[in-house]
Amino acid sequence: MKVALWYNNKDIRIKNVPTPKPNKKEMLVKVISCGICGSDIVEWYRLPRAPLVQGHEIGAQVLTVGKSVKKYKPGDRVFIAPKVPCMKCYYCKNGHYPQCLEVKERLPGGFAEYILVPEILIENGTYLLPQDISFDQSTFIEPLACVVRAQRLAGVKKGQTVLVIGCGMSGLLNVKLARTKGCRIIAADINQKKLEIARQMGADIITNAADDISKQLVKESCKKADVVFLCASADSAVEQAWKCVDKGGVVVLFAVPGPDKKVVVPVNDFWMKEITILTSYYCGPPDIIEAIKLIEWHNIIVDDLITHRLPLKDIVKGFQLVTDGRKSIKVIIKPNI
Ligand SMILES: [Zn+2]
Ligand SMILES: [Zn+2]
Repeated sequence: MKVALWYNNKDIRIKNVPTPKPNKKEMLVKVISCGICGSDIVEWYRLPRAPLVQGHEIGAQVLTVGKSVKKYKPGDRVFIAPKVPCMKCYYCKNGHYPQCLEVKERLPGGFAEYILVPEILIENGTYLLPQDISFDQSTFIEPLACVVRAQRLAGVKKGQTVLVIGCGMSGLLNVKLARTKGCRIIAADINQKKLEIARQMGADIITNAADDISKQLVKESCKKADVVFLCASADSAVEQAWKCVDKGGVVVLFAVPGPDKKVVVPVNDFWMKEITILTSYYCGPPDIIEAIKLIEWHNIIVDDLITHRLPLKDIVKGFQLVTDGRKSIKVIIKPNI
């Protein structure tokens, strides 16, 4: 079978490797769709494990199952999480699933024709796709689950003013989810085209992030934002986030600058204004279940975010499109076309 081995964003090699054979507790799935995530192109995050087969936004069809696998059968359409928390450790019991101490096995990457699914992921990490969710739509389950979690942690609710800085895929999903909650949404980006898209997807106000967003906010809303979602990693975006949060508000660091960057936090000002800084990394099983429902019930439309579908051989182009970010939102790799 063919896999795409990632060395860095410019060096991704298509390799032929033996198609794995499932033992009695494993299953083999055929990858129909796999999205390129914004985190796949973050080299400081991925390089320590390189070379690797990336791809964790997977829509797949079960091909063969081992003798003792009873939960799934050939032909089943599934989403599989890249890793599963134990649900028993201290962190899991407190809802911090991404911090689980017992994650031992990861799903092999989805930029491959087939994936061998280990037992633990069959048991706790595989979800049957409802009839109404296509393989392409299923690539949004994981990214939407991360947004669901971030908005839950931030306590986003009706009537709040929500600012989203950065209108890439995760920013736009934040806009869409905040829309379903009845928030007033301001979207900021330096790319005018992305801003227009954000408006079409539910932002009430759009503003260019090259300008002072806080001034625009106060002008349009008479107040700053109750919740700020930072979905861009530029240093300037972090500075903007600090300036845009209202008293008693929350700044959610959904994206962050690289590990070598130091960020200055106006702690004295934030103390007096009772501002919360929140980080959100990955998602947990309850978020995945909610994301599936949101897509299945058409509460969140995802089709309008898909800009490119590419075969595995064009994966370098896909990574270029996502890295550049100007002409793409969601790029989906189709390893079996
Ligand atoms: Zn992702
Ligand atoms: Zn755990």
